[in-house]
Amino acid sequence: MKKALHTRNPPSETGTNDSHPQAEELQPMPVLEECLIEEMQDLLHAEGQLVKALPKMAKAANDPKLKQAFQKHLEETKGQVDRLKEAFELLGQRAKAKPCRGMQGLVEEGQEKIAEGQDKEAAAADLALVAAAQKVEHYEIAGYGTARVMAERLGQAKVAKLLAQTLSEEEKTDALLTQLSPPLLEEASSESGEEEEEEQPSRSRSRRSRAAGV
Ligand code: FE
Ligand code: FE
Repeated sequence: MKKALHTRNPPSETGTNDSHPQAEELQPMPVLEECLIEEMQDLLHAEGQLVKALPKMAKAANDPKLKQAFQKHLEETKGQVDRLKEAFELLGQRAKAKPCRGMQGLVEEGQEKIAEGQDKEAAAADLALVAAAQKVEHYEIAGYGTARVMAERLGQAKVAKLLAQTLSEEEKTDALLTQLSPPLLEEASSESGEEEEEEQPSRSRSRRSRAAGV
């Protein structure tokens, strides 16, 4: 079976490797295990970014249920970081994050939506947050799905179970966001960019009309 060296840098001509002095890092590591660890490093960085981004999403959400969903998922995300750390430990690896540019881009988009939402009707601003959040969940679902399959193939049942638990949370969050959308869609479609009628319930009033005190 083809093996990959645990280290990224091949030994130098003198047979030493100054940048990776630890003997354990020179042990052969199966290619698949290396793939799994890299995927987990990416996910650890992604989750770390979300721990910082989700409170901002929760603060920006107008709909109380959407706000609550972001707050709940923030707590889950903290647990997901712990789960990843536990999985690294089971694999005998240091929990090291590797910059996740995919999530960085998605978080930046989410921040853009928050800023743009300031000038939008409440439901329209919330719908943009739902879209941004669902893109994040789908990215995570892809990452955890792949990592779980690799862990299973490696016979790492405990690691696979931890990854599956998080995968399930991400899928449930995605489904919850879908479930919260219909009233927002309804509200946004009735607004049509025009002034609202006075008898509309306060929850569905626009940010603009709230600011104007009407
Ligand atoms: Fe997550
Ligand atoms: Fe998530």
